[in-house]
Amino acid sequence: MIYRCPHCGQDCLSIAQKLFMSPANPVSCRNCGRSVTLRWSHYLLVIVPAVIALALIGRFGFEGYQLLAAGGALLAAVGLAQLLLPLVKAGFRSGTGSGRDDG
Ligand SMILES: [Zn+2]
Repeated sequence: MIYRCPHCGQDCLSIAQKLFMSPANPVSCRNCGRSVTLRWSHYLLVIVPAVIALALIGRFGFEGYQLLAAGGALLAAVGLAQLLLPLVKAGFRSGTGSGRDDG
């Protein structure tokens, strides 16, 4: 899977980097070195349902392999969703694009 840099259009990071990145932790493009990140709005669409699902798992009182299976399925779903989130340029707020882009 290739993650295209919003700056240079080249493959910019590994799957592992994409998996563990967050809007609070921009990653440098390995091609052009400029920062790429995720939008908070997209990120929250993944994290909020995950937290709700985690709370539900706790309420159902799963034990043993059920808990492992539920937790594993949740992790897989969150990971997959995170991998599918689009990358955006880091360094300025989302908006009209009137800001400078001199990273
Ligand atoms: Zn780049």
